[in-house]
Amino acid sequence: MSVKQVEMVMAPREPHFVGDGFRVHNFIPGGYGLSMQRMDPFIMLDYGSKFYFPASPFKPKGVGVHPHRGFETVTVAYKGSVAHHDSSGGGGVIEEGDVQWMTAASGVLHKEFHSEAFSKTGGDFQMVQLWVNLPAKDKMSTPKYQAISNAQIPKIAVPNNGGVVEVIAGNYDGNNGAASTFTPVHLLNAKLNAGGEASINFPAHYNTAFIVIEGDVIVNGTEEAPLDNFVLFTNSGESFSIKATENSVVLIISGEPIKEPIAAHGPFVMNTRQEIMEAFQDYENGKFGVLED
Ligand code: MN
Repeated sequence: MSVKQVEMVMAPREPHFVGDGFRVHNFIPGGYGLSMQRMDPFIMLDYGSKFYFPASPFKPKGVGVHPHRGFETVTVAYKGSVAHHDSSGGGGVIEEGDVQWMTAASGVLHKEFHSEAFSKTGGDFQMVQLWVNLPAKDKMSTPKYQAISNAQIPKIAVPNNGGVVEVIAGNYDGNNGAASTFTPVHLLNAKLNAGGEASINFPAHYNTAFIVIEGDVIVNGTEEAPLDNFVLFTNSGESFSIKATENSVVLIISGEPIKEPIAAHGPFVMNTRQEIMEAFQDYENGKFGVLED
């Protein structure tokens, strides 16, 4: 196996707010050339770096009712907690360490707010929201949720007491992850102790990157990746190493490109403009269901 080299280390850009509760740095498809095509099957990545929200007990902050169609939204909670509700009657709270994997597919309405408990006290809030595209054949399938608590996520020890790798989806070192996916996707949380080093490998053509959620790491023994930075790998070579210079957490994403046409508009990601128009019509006609504000 040859080494997968770093293509780019990107500092977070200026944050913006999604609703009034999610202060995020956009990495995909932001201003760094990380287009939906380049990062396929990852079509959007918003990173909410650690940010203190004061208490807001009477009016939880967040984002109101909105639709999605054609892909999956994956929410990884690092600090704080998010309450969600959707038009199929589903809902729950994503607590620290948990992951919500929502398959919007043919269409849902949902809303995402800071949980009641978090809103009462305020505190540090830190999240990732990743959108994973669906292949054409699955875009209009039935919506579903995978509510994955931290306890359900396999944790694989890193050599020399170096920490653990949480396998959210895909696999690591022969261990399968907690989430099921439609196409090959790996999502790993490496939680490394200072000096801990994880070796990771994925097929060369998979689009692969990671975010430094906590701490500071060195990639392949040479390249420094500081806190909140996004590291993109080239599409050659298979294996790389991440070594923590202090206690660190990195979220690693890698996926096989779907290689189908992408037509995207706001909350809809389909294959053709015609399908986007249909999504708007279906939304207008109430075909996404009903959800109260
Ligand atoms: Mn949403």
